[in-house]
Amino acid sequence: MIDEYKPAELDKKWQKIWEEEKLYKVSEDPKRPKYYALTMFPYTSGDLHIGHWYAMAPSDVQARFKRMQGFNVLHPMGFDSFGLPAENAAIKRGIHPEKWTMANIENMRKQLKSMGSMYDWDREVITCLPEYYKWTQWFFVKLFENGLAYKGKAPVNWCPKCQVVLANEQVVGGQCWRCETDVVKKDLEQWLFRITKYADELMEHDGIDWPERIKIMQRNWVGKSYGTEVSFSLDQKGIAEKEIKVFTTRPDTIYGVTFMVLAPEHPLVQKLTTPEHKEEVEEYIARTRKFTEIERLSTEKEKDGVFTGAYVINRVNGQKVQVWIADYVLLSYGTGAVMGVPAHDERDFAFAKKYNVPIRVVIAPPDWNGGELEQAYIEPGKMVNSAQFDGTLSTDGIAAVTKYLEEKRWGKGTISYRMRDWLISRQRYWGAPIPIVSCPKCGLVAVPEKDLPVLLPEKAEFRPTGESPLKYNEEFVNTKCPKCGGPAKRETDTIDGFMCSSWYFLRYCSPHYSKAAFDPEAVKYWMPVDLYTGGAEHAVMHLLYARFFTKAARDMGLISFGEPFLKLFNQGIIIAGHEKMSKSKGNVVNPDQYVLELGADVVRTYMMFLGPWEQGGEWFDTGISGVSRWYNRVWNLTLEEYKPKTIDENANKELERMRHQTIKKVTSDMERIRFNTMVAALMEFTNNLSKIREAGNVSIENWKNAINSLLLMLAPSAPHTTEELWHRIGHKTSIHKADWPKWDEALAKEEEITLVVQVNGKLRDRISVPVAIDENEAKKVAQESDKVKVHLQGKVIANVIYVPGKLVNIVVKG
Ligand SMILES: [Zn+2]
Ligand SMILES: [Zn+2]
Repeated sequence: MIDEYKPAELDKKWQKIWEEEKLYKVSEDPKRPKYYALTMFPYTSGDLHIGHWYAMAPSDVQARFKRMQGFNVLHPMGFDSFGLPAENAAIKRGIHPEKWTMANIENMRKQLKSMGSMYDWDREVITCLPEYYKWTQWFFVKLFENGLAYKGKAPVNWCPKCQVVLANEQVVGGQCWRCETDVVKKDLEQWLFRITKYADELMEHDGIDWPERIKIMQRNWVGKSYGTEVSFSLDQKGIAEKEIKVFTTRPDTIYGVTFMVLAPEHPLVQKLTTPEHKEEVEEYIARTRKFTEIERLSTEKEKDGVFTGAYVINRVNGQKVQVWIADYVLLSYGTGAVMGVPAHDERDFAFAKKYNVPIRVVIAPPDWNGGELEQAYIEPGKMVNSAQFDGTLSTDGIAAVTKYLEEKRWGKGTISYRMRDWLISRQRYWGAPIPIVSCPKCGLVAVPEKDLPVLLPEKAEFRPTGESPLKYNEEFVNTKCPKCGGPAKRETDTIDGFMCSSWYFLRYCSPHYSKAAFDPEAVKYWMPVDLYTGGAEHAVMHLLYARFFTKAARDMGLISFGEPFLKLFNQGIIIAGHEKMSKSKGNVVNPDQYVLELGADVVRTYMMFLGPWEQGGEWFDTGISGVSRWYNRVWNLTLEEYKPKTIDENANKELERMRHQTIKKVTSDMERIRFNTMVAALMEFTNNLSKIREAGNVSIENWKNAINSLLLMLAPSAPHTTEELWHRIGHKTSIHKADWPKWDEALAKEEEITLVVQVNGKLRDRISVPVAIDENEAKKVAQESDKVKVHLQGKVIANVIYVPGKLVNIVVKG
């Protein structure tokens, strides 16, 4: 009698042994090819939920597979642990953010270990600990010294009554959450990273294997557009400026400009507005301040504006043009001013109709009779009412008009981007302090490396004001200038947590290195990451920031490559009861409970089986029970003694062929990250082994080979179960040190037969097909033969007769 399969006990037993034996410890080994398999590290929010498991279990399977293939695999884990949630929890519950965070890490680490993953825990990184953030600050200083970090004005929410900055979430319906005063946008000094310097490079994804949709999202985010800057002349008493510049992508419509729109914040607005329009303009500006840029650009928001009473002159035709302000124009985009061409732009058309602004057609719609337009004509066409350009095709007009404007010095071709510099200062406590000192004599001075880290003081008084608590910690604020030794003040903002995760993959290469952020030799060996897996929601934040960081580090001479992640894979999500899991719906699956009951291996395997990893799938308890039953069968098949009854040479050959075919299929699925079909192939192999065991017609040697191969192929998915079975059948070393099984193409090949194909009883072709071909497949192959097709043309197939293993006869009419 064999003992029962008790997965939960096996989990405990093997996790302990692996830890003691340091089975998953990795170090650089120049003799072996390296493979860096990285999973996005979790934010320390409290519990490891099913989404974490779905991100981490399959990626561990892939890493283990690579290890068995002979790669030296780095598969590290750590915790992204600075940020707002910890601080909010602290304010809400009165726990210090550090205590809250470290308790969560303790809990999450325990859960991660219960997964049986091959993380080398000696390499763990925790971004909120001084030994890590010292180097985050060091990077900040490097960026500052290289002109990539700067202090500039950026808009923030400001409550005029409380006189404080508010976080976005403290603005409720445009009002201060505390005193219900209308919140205004105020430009405050903030720290920014010059990510825009890399705009062009960030749009290129040469040499990296990333999902197309992520590449498109990044390109759209950067938003490069080619256009023309045109100046309109301004001749108003008492105003020094003699022109206003606009940015347009349609210079071919320049003769159709009937109005101009400035962003309400445009510096000329105050000067231009005539006394009779002052009040209306002021009101509009005040209203604008309540909206975020995203809200202002929303397609749902009605486009409105107000007239300033001022005019500019369109230089190409001398026409007077009204100057308006409207909130859909942003000061931060282009020049903060746009030209209005109602005849050829839908938004401008609606605006002109609403405010009775003239509409002038300058590109003729097909069959145009010279009359008024019912709607904007935005397609290309012949230019009209455009002086010397009349008759020019508008698509050619773009370049022609730009050239003309350049000759006249009224404009020039230009490039514009949607992406802004990355605002990284946070008026918060729970982050790495910005390592800058402000000295009245020397200005902004970086804290020298020997004085890093600038420690986050433990004592903090949390104020729900949106201001950094560090501001009120005098001991922290008052310091000496590193340059002149005089009294100076520390920067009290902290660094956006996204900076901590922009370089963590470098730290994993040498997590205990104390001389720099990373050991250059270790980074040279491990980087770039070969496979990066995680959620697609990080497309334009983390994944863009990490690329920026890598490029900046390359240009600062710290590393020699410009892309951090060679291949990117985004997993889908798991749903339950046809819906996304959420606490309010009560359909949240708790992984811990299943691990306790069925073992980590069953949970890991079920995650891969429930759908293609990139698509996700639905969680069914019946599904996971099926996987559990399968592992019970594998347990029994392996441990029950196999005694052949009679040995059949054909059966022996067939088993070998099946074994080689399965290895081939599973290997290919693993390589292509098709885990669900990989699991299905192993289930099918198990079924066949059950039948063979009943028949008892293969040799003991072949049977053992088949069981060994099955366990080896299952090892990445079921590390605990296979380790136990591997030892029980007599192996002395860990299955996770064994080599991935190999297949022989010749042995994997199906035996073939010749299929005779007839049309109306006449021989038309002979085709080689696998001996095990089924009826449908045989009929299909027969009809697809070119020699047969000729005889089917223009005829109706009345019947297809199949004689198994011999012949297909196609009966046609007509
Ligand atoms: Zn207030
Ligand atoms: Zn100084």
